[in-house]
Amino acid sequence: MSTDATTDHPPTLIGRLTAQVDCPVVAPTDRGYDAARLGWNRTVTMSPDAVAMTNDRGDVQAALRTARELGVPLHVQATGHGTLTSATSGLLINLSSMNDVHIDTERMLATVGPGATWNDVNRASATHGLGSLSGRCATVGVTGYTLGGGSGWLSRTYGYAADSALEAEIVTATGDIVTVDRHRHADLHWAIRGGGGNFGIVTSLTFRLFPARRVFAGMSFYPVERAADIFRAYRDWSLDEPDGMNTAVLLMRLPPAPAIPAAARGRQVVALRAFALCDEREGRNQLDAVLKVAGPALHDGFAERDFAEASAATNGPDAPPMPHRQLVHLFDSVDDDLIDQVVNGEGRAAGAPYAFIELRHWGGAMAETTSDSGPAGHRSTPYSILAVAPYLTPDRSAVDTQVDRLDRLCHSRATGGSFLTLLTRPELTATAFTDRHFGMLREIKSRWDPDDILQPSHHIPPLHTYSSPSHAPSIKTSTEE
Ligand SMILES: Cc1cc2nc3c(=O)[nH]c(=O)nc-3n(C[C@H](O)[C@H](O)[C@H](O)COP(=O)(O)OP(=O)(O)OC[C@H]3O[C@@H](n4cnc5c(N)ncnc54)[C@H](O)[C@@H]3O)c2cc1C
Repeated sequence: MSTDATTDHPPTLIGRLTAQVDCPVVAPTDRGYDAARLGWNRTVTMSPDAVAMTNDRGDVQAALRTARELGVPLHVQATGHGTLTSATSGLLINLSSMNDVHIDTERMLATVGPGATWNDVNRASATHGLGSLSGRCATVGVTGYTLGGGSGWLSRTYGYAADSALEAEIVTATGDIVTVDRHRHADLHWAIRGGGGNFGIVTSLTFRLFPARRVFAGMSFYPVERAADIFRAYRDWSLDEPDGMNTAVLLMRLPPAPAIPAAARGRQVVALRAFALCDEREGRNQLDAVLKVAGPALHDGFAERDFAEASAATNGPDAPPMPHRQLVHLFDSVDDDLIDQVVNGEGRAAGAPYAFIELRHWGGAMAETTSDSGPAGHRSTPYSILAVAPYLTPDRSAVDTQVDRLDRLCHSRATGGSFLTLLTRPELTATAFTDRHFGMLREIKSRWDPDDILQPSHHIPPLHTYSSPSHAPSIKTSTEE
């Protein structure tokens, strides 16, 4: 496929596209262009020659075939939360209008269009006492999140979102429509449960929901002076964390926004997050050892809530799209020295740029492998450190210097593995998989997209085009399944 944008590409593309699809086609000169193309991380610029605002699978099929026939680069976006690489040409298929949600309460299943967000699902399912494997931010797209693995509020209890994906309708790279599940095109069904958007464009996804009428959940804030003690207490407590608990501890700099509790507003604080399918008394009992060390809270945010409210309360107010840096590392263990250097050394250093640095305990159901598991995740890895640093001024060098230092510190102690939906460095895509799974994904890519039409930010190339060793740095956990 040619990636050259010749001068007559845009008019040819827009003309052909308009003739082929029934949906709006947005050109760079149109008023709706920015809304149709922009992603969440504003360091990335998605500037296609045309955007097809698809309304149904027929539009997706026609748009993909048009891009293929013209040999222009093809991009796919639902919400833009996972758009990590800039583009200066080609066709963007924007799926956001295809946001239907159907809840089957009897079978506890949801079937969604590819533009549905977790907000759409959680609002629809919570009224039936059902919860999902959604994560931190409910404006994230269900399909993009699930295709990349998806680690959410109930993942220690029920596994990755990808583990719950039972059936998908897919427009393949050749423009055919197939339905995949564990019996039909089982290879493709396996690959899309962790391998991202490399294997086709999903136009419908069916996945499990879980009973979650009342949830013990929320986020409590503590003075930053107790940060290292609380992180250590959390690490020690997590060694025996019940699978029913889903938790994390964060060093957070909260904005001076009215939505933030007054005692924590505009301050750097420690936050403890918890999400569990139990009542409040049980939840607080489970957390007792950490709460004792944490001491009096600046704001106690734990309560029993329905699923949608619990998700919002545990995340806190949604941050707006912004330019930022994110890093994630996985760890087999987190010792006192690492906590001290990350929390006191980097996180609390003068001018530290982090919106948050999170230590999360994984494991539980995420660590379980069955014969049906997809390629998502390094299942045996128990801890992650995730940090997000916004660029608040045009000069990014001061932020980069500090984030690079934290990155080097974490890298020196980490496994070298990663988790696809949290990884923001496309050149490290291979580190999200075991060597065996990455090889299998490339084989399946060769079968379903040999011409490499679909090149998402986390690109998995077909076997014959892969040569650069920089795409596949060695992973210390490479032998795990
Ligand atoms: C604020 C924030 C919070 C987050 N919280 C979590 C979290 O708690 N847990 C977690 O695991 N991840 C989390 N993520 C990461 C998120 O899951 C990924 O960025 C995910 O890829 C977003 O999917 P999307 O559809 O919203 O984004 P998009 O940018 O629209 O899509 C992301 C990728 O998926 C592909 N894609 C999307 N839809 C389809 C489709 N229908 N068919 C084929 N390919 C498709 C696109 O090609 C693109 O490469 C978070 C991200 C942000 C920005």
